[in-house]
Amino acid sequence: MGKIVLASNNKHKVDEFRKLFGKYEFLTLKDIGFFEDIAEIGMTFEENSLIKAQTVSDFCKKKGIVATVVADDSGLCVNALNGAPGVYSARYGGDHDVDAARKLLLKEMEGKKDRSAYFQCVIVKMSPDGNYVCADGKCFGKITDKPYGDAGFAFDPIFLSDDLNKTFAQVSMEEKNAVSHRARALEDLRTKWDF
Ligand code: IMP
Repeated sequence: MGKIVLASNNKHKVDEFRKLFGKYEFLTLKDIGFFEDIAEIGMTFEENSLIKAQTVSDFCKKKGIVATVVADDSGLCVNALNGAPGVYSARYGGDHDVDAARKLLLKEMEGKKDRSAYFQCVIVKMSPDGNYVCADGKCFGKITDKPYGDAGFAFDPIFLSDDLNKTFAQVSMEEKNAVSHRARALEDLRTKWDF
């Protein structure tokens, strides 16, 4: 069925995507010997996913690896903050410091009436010939006044899902995955690519 390279080192993503692409030979960045940092300099999730997919696809070509590359980018967009943290979600409040990011967001939201927000995920699938398709998923909710729940990661304890009426940290991974931005982006991807 050919090879798929996932353009991520995130263990959760690797585990989730590996399951989905069971009929392909599934490779991670480590497997193909890619150890560079990809600068996520795009202004949108789509631009960043495309940067990741293109960089890894170019690397594969150089190494003689014929593979489809799958890349994703995601984040939290808060309406009262004009879409922040958005593409800067992973660096908000300090590089990959999730406690600081949550605290900063709650502080920025003090006194705000409109607490609506959404998570967005964009997935790019790039074929070995460079053609690509882009899939998009969103899930909507509200920013709480303080953290609730111990599950999940990053912004999950302060994101009250409209679908579940609980924060993403108060539900199991299965419940979150049924409505999450990543699950919806994968659904959208299925309409564009029969994987
Ligand atoms: P990336 O897609 O791995 O670049 O993740 C971007 C950042 O968005 C993460 O570091 C988190 O801060 C945030 N984020 C994306 N998806 C989720 C989620 O499902 N829960 C909580 N935070 C998330």
